Amino acid sequence: MHELSITQSVVDAVIEHAGESRVISVRLTVGRLSGVVPDAMRFCFDLLIDGTALAGARLDIEEPAGRAACGSCGREFTLTDHILLCPCGSAEVTVLAGRELKITSLEVA
Ligand SMILES: [Zn+2]
Repeated sequence: MHELSITQSVVDAVIEHAGESRVISVRLTVGRLSGVVPDAMRFCFDLLIDGTALAGARLDIEEPAGRAACGSCGREFTLTDHILLCPCGSAEVTVLAGRELKITSLEVA
Protein backbone atom coordinates (compact mmCIF):
# COMPACT_ATOMS: atom_id res chain seq x y z
CA MET A 1 0.00 0.00 0.00
CA HIS A 2 2.01 2.98 -1.21
CA GLU A 3 -0.64 5.38 0.11
CA LEU A 4 0.98 4.96 3.53
CA SER A 5 4.34 6.38 2.45
CA ILE A 6 2.72 9.09 0.32
CA THR A 7 0.47 10.13 3.17
CA GLN A 8 3.43 10.11 5.53
CA SER A 9 5.26 12.58 3.29
CA VAL A 10 2.14 14.79 3.14
CA VAL A 11 1.86 14.74 6.94
CA ASP A 12 5.58 15.54 7.30
CA ALA A 13 5.31 18.46 4.88
CA VAL A 14 2.25 19.86 6.63
CA ILE A 15 3.88 19.66 10.05
CA GLU A 16 6.93 21.43 8.69
CA HIS A 17 4.82 24.21 7.14
CA ALA A 18 2.45 24.67 10.04
CA GLY A 19 5.17 25.03 12.67
CA GLU A 20 3.50 25.73 15.99
CA SER A 21 0.07 26.45 14.52
CA ARG A 22 -2.78 24.05 15.02
CA VAL A 23 -3.97 22.65 11.70
CA ILE A 24 -7.72 22.45 11.18
CA SER A 25 -7.78 20.98 7.73
CA VAL A 26 -5.56 19.91 4.89
CA ARG A 27 -6.77 20.02 1.30
CA LEU A 28 -5.21 17.78 -1.30
CA THR A 29 -5.65 17.42 -5.00
CA VAL A 30 -5.35 13.80 -6.01
CA GLY A 31 -5.90 13.30 -9.73
CA ARG A 32 -7.86 10.26 -10.85
CA LEU A 33 -4.80 9.06 -12.74
CA SER A 34 -2.34 9.54 -9.89
CA GLY A 35 -2.60 5.89 -8.92
CA VAL A 36 -3.45 6.83 -5.35
CA VAL A 37 -6.68 5.68 -3.70
CA PRO A 38 -8.18 8.63 -1.78
CA ASP A 39 -10.01 6.42 0.72
CA ALA A 40 -6.75 4.68 1.56
CA MET A 41 -5.11 8.08 2.06
CA ARG A 42 -7.89 9.17 4.43
CA PHE A 43 -7.43 5.98 6.41
CA CYS A 44 -3.64 6.43 6.61
CA PHE A 45 -3.99 10.12 7.45
CA ASP A 46 -6.11 9.38 10.50
CA LEU A 47 -3.58 6.81 11.68
CA LEU A 48 -0.53 8.98 11.05
CA ILE A 49 -1.73 12.20 12.65
CA ASP A 50 -2.60 10.54 15.93
CA GLY A 51 -0.31 11.98 18.59
CA THR A 52 1.20 14.64 16.27
CA ALA A 53 0.59 18.38 15.93
CA LEU A 54 -1.95 17.47 13.26
CA ALA A 55 -4.16 15.38 15.54
CA GLY A 56 -7.82 16.13 14.84
CA ALA A 57 -7.16 17.78 11.48
CA ARG A 58 -9.56 17.08 8.64
CA LEU A 59 -8.42 15.82 5.26
CA ASP A 60 -10.29 17.10 2.21
CA ILE A 61 -9.43 15.48 -1.09
CA GLU A 62 -10.37 16.84 -4.48
CA GLU A 63 -10.28 14.27 -7.25
CA PRO A 64 -10.11 15.93 -10.64
CA ALA A 65 -10.72 13.67 -13.62
CA GLY A 66 -7.99 13.15 -16.15
CA ARG A 67 -7.79 15.02 -19.46
CA ALA A 68 -6.02 13.78 -22.52
CA ALA A 69 -5.44 14.83 -26.09
CA CYS A 70 -5.45 12.45 -29.03
CA GLY A 71 -2.63 12.70 -31.53
CA SER A 72 -4.66 11.00 -34.24
CA CYS A 73 -7.98 12.85 -34.31
CA GLY A 74 -6.96 15.92 -32.28
CA ARG A 75 -9.81 15.71 -29.83
CA GLU A 76 -9.50 16.31 -26.09
CA PHE A 77 -11.38 14.01 -23.80
CA THR A 78 -11.87 13.02 -20.17
CA LEU A 79 -10.04 10.05 -18.75
CA THR A 80 -11.61 8.35 -15.76
CA ASP A 81 -9.23 5.42 -15.54
CA HIS A 82 -5.85 4.25 -16.70
CA ILE A 83 -6.99 3.03 -20.08
CA LEU A 84 -5.22 5.51 -22.33
CA LEU A 85 -7.34 5.19 -25.42
CA CYS A 86 -9.15 7.88 -27.37
CA PRO A 87 -12.82 7.26 -28.17
CA CYS A 88 -11.64 7.07 -31.82
CA GLY A 89 -9.64 3.97 -30.90
CA SER A 90 -6.18 5.53 -31.09
CA ALA A 91 -3.62 4.93 -28.35
CA GLU A 92 -1.62 7.95 -29.46
CA VAL A 93 -2.75 9.85 -26.42
CA THR A 94 -1.06 12.53 -24.33
CA VAL A 95 -2.18 12.94 -20.74
CA LEU A 96 -2.81 16.62 -19.95
CA ALA A 97 -4.11 16.41 -16.40
CA GLY A 98 -5.13 13.98 -13.70
CA ARG A 99 -1.76 12.81 -12.45
CA GLU A 100 -1.33 15.61 -9.94
CA LEU A 101 -0.88 14.90 -6.26
CA LYS A 102 -0.38 18.01 -4.22
CA ILE A 103 -1.29 19.89 -1.09
CA THR A 104 -3.53 22.75 -2.24
CA SER A 105 -4.22 24.45 1.08
CA LEU A 106 -3.88 24.34 4.82
CA GLU A 107 -6.30 25.83 7.26
CA VAL A 108 -4.63 26.73 10.53
CA ALA A 109 -6.09 28.09 13.76
ZN1 LIG B 1 -8.69 10.19 -31.30
